[in-house]
Amino acid sequence: MLTGKVAVVTGASRGIGKCVALELAAQGARIVASARTLEGLDGLAAEIIAAGGEVIAVAGDVSVSTDADRLVARAVEGFGRLDILVNNAGITRDGLLLRMKDEDWDAVLDTNLKGAFLCTRAAARVMSRQKSGRIINISSVVGEMGNAGQVNYSASKAGMLGLTKSTARELARRNVTVNAITPGFIITDMTGGLSDKAREGLEAQIPLGRLGTVDDVAHSVLFLASDQAAYITGQVLGVNGGMYM
Ligand code: NAP
Repeated sequence: MLTGKVAVVTGASRGIGKCVALELAAQGARIVASARTLEGLDGLAAEIIAAGGEVIAVAGDVSVSTDADRLVARAVEGFGRLDILVNNAGITRDGLLLRMKDEDWDAVLDTNLKGAFLCTRAAARVMSRQKSGRIINISSVVGEMGNAGQVNYSASKAGMLGLTKSTARELARRNVTVNAITPGFIITDMTGGLSDKAREGLEAQIPLGRLGTVDDVAHSVLFLASDQAAYITGQVLGVNGGMYM
């Protein structure tokens, strides 16, 4: 159980982030949920409150330094502390290298990698003072394997692994652990546009023979946030059905 713990989840309005926020709340954590628009956050907040939980919804862009600082400040103002940060907000702007536009490179790196850095820096100030904390970065199997058509996305997700390991080394003496999860192909809006044929092609590459669910990822977040994971830091946990080993 995570009773009384305070968790910030970025990109919580849908997909993996929403499921992570709901599962953390179901374990007793108080949630600070963030996304650029409040639309999806309102639905999430209503679900958490209906189940007897506590939640603060914050609209903000993780790639903007002042928004990241404000997100952490809202957690501390509202709930008095910050125990868990899940850096989940992410986007894709796919295209082959030779046709990749500068703005598509920048948008993906800014959201996925700089956003994780800004939220980590803001959270680390609080967690270092507390001498406890858990930071969980949602990277991707694509950051480990690469993927044609995703030079920007895979670079951002590989960058998150370096961010994870360096931050883990810096914050270990403060009893703050930092780990990454690398999901494979998970059924969300991000992968929703796949044709049946493309989906079958993907399934054929996955030893467990299916795409992942948001619960598959959320359960690994719960583990890394739990007391049972206290001695794990700087690690990369693949949640990919065996597609990369
Ligand atoms: P999703 O359904 O597209 O949701 C993305 C979330 O991030 C939304 O809540 C979105 O809300 C928020 N967001 C986007 N840009 C943001 C920004 N600049 N600032 C704050 N919030 C922002 O994505 P998902 O499939 O659940 O993926 C979640 C994470 O898992 C991402 O980091 C993704 O790269 C990673 N991942 C996904 C898969 C997969 O197969 N789905 C696989 C591996 C890794 P707004 O649009 O309102 O801001």
